[in-house]
Amino acid sequence: MSKIFAVANQKGGVGKTTTCVNLAASLVANKRQVLLIDLDPQGNATMGSGVDKNDLEVSGYDVLVQGLPAERAIVPTASGFDLIPGNGDLSAAEVELLSLEGRESRLRQTLCGVADRYDHVIIDCPPSLNMLTVNALCAAQGVLIPMQCEYYALEGLSALIDTITQIQQAANPDLKIEGILRTMYDPRSSLTTEVSMQLQEYFGERLYRTCIPRNVRLAEAPSFGKPALEHDRHSKGAIAYLALACEITRRQSDHSPNKGRPMAEV
Ligand code: ADP
Ligand code: MG
Repeated sequence: MSKIFAVANQKGGVGKTTTCVNLAASLVANKRQVLLIDLDPQGNATMGSGVDKNDLEVSGYDVLVQGLPAERAIVPTASGFDLIPGNGDLSAAEVELLSLEGRESRLRQTLCGVADRYDHVIIDCPPSLNMLTVNALCAAQGVLIPMQCEYYALEGLSALIDTITQIQQAANPDLKIEGILRTMYDPRSSLTTEVSMQLQEYFGERLYRTCIPRNVRLAEAPSFGKPALEHDRHSKGAIAYLALACEITRRQSDHSPNKGRPMAEV
């Protein structure tokens, strides 16, 4: 089972960043050690974790391009997970990486030294299949794909799956689709249930049972620099991400050789 997850979908606005921040906080609530890496130049995961992207001494840029050891870029967050923050400098990284040796595997190399300290490493990808996303997919063992159950969502998915297949063949044979996560889920919409059934048919067990509902608390929380769990822990959004963390933890322990690790119930 994967320990390093890339949260990827080249479509913007599908809930990647919301998933990264809230899943990280929910795994911490399950007594897991978590590192979140913000690879999106928009720096939304950084801000949403309560770290000011405009006031960074070092960021993912320094790690990817300048070869700074990852541990030097890690900052603790108030929510209990560690963060390698990102900001607009990552746009330069996207270009500068192209001329560097081993450009696809810079993140993978740098994570070798730190991944062992964590139960989970979660990488927030930008909304494109660029060199930053390729770095995330080369470093990861699993891809978590958040998607909204709407018609065009399925179209975009095939480009992502093609990229994953290419990276599996060329650089990272261990990479697999860890799970598809239905976000902003509205069971009252017939299109949602129809697309959901298609996903079930195609992805089977890889479709997470947990669906993330559309919930205003999830949308509000980033403006406070907090996960929903801290903004309103009784909200449907916070509870859904806790359920997702439990589902992921359970899947992991089902596949682990040393089963039986205690897990907090939610
Ligand atoms: P991405 O990282 O894929 O671009 P975001 O996580 O930033 O997507 O989400 C896009 C927008 O939708 C943000 O404004 C976010 O607050 C909001 N959002 C994400 N998930 C939910 C949800 N389940 N319910 C309500 N709003 C959501
Ligand atoms: Mg995002």
